[in-house]
Order: sequence, then structure tokens, then C-alpha cells
Amino acid sequence: MITMYYSCKDHIDIAMEEMVDETGMPPDLQLVNEAEKEERHCSFCNSEATYKISG
Ligand SMILES: [Zn+2]
Repeated sequence: MITMYYSCKDHIDIAMEEMVDETGMPPDLQLVNEAEKEERHCSFCNSEATYKISG
């Protein structure tokens, strides 16, 4: 199962916690690239996403 969150700088801690809760594994953290930033928003607010967290 692939789970993914997008997060702004403010919500990265929450995103990491949610991911660990769901997968029980250390999450993989990546920066959202410039092209993707325009269409991705934080899963926890409406800010532009900075990080992509997958597990
Ligand atoms: Zn946010």
C-alpha cells in the first residue's frame, strides 16, 4: 500500500506522525519540486506544499 502526504513547513511534524501511525515505518521525506508545487497543497492546511512524505 502506498500512502502519501503533502505538507507545508508548518505541518511537517504532523505529517510525519500521521505517516508513522499509518505505516509503522520511518517515512520517506522528499522536497516537492518547483513544477509540482503549483498544484500540490499541504494535506493539513491550504498552503503550498514543501514536503512530500511517503511510506
Ligand atoms: Zn500546512
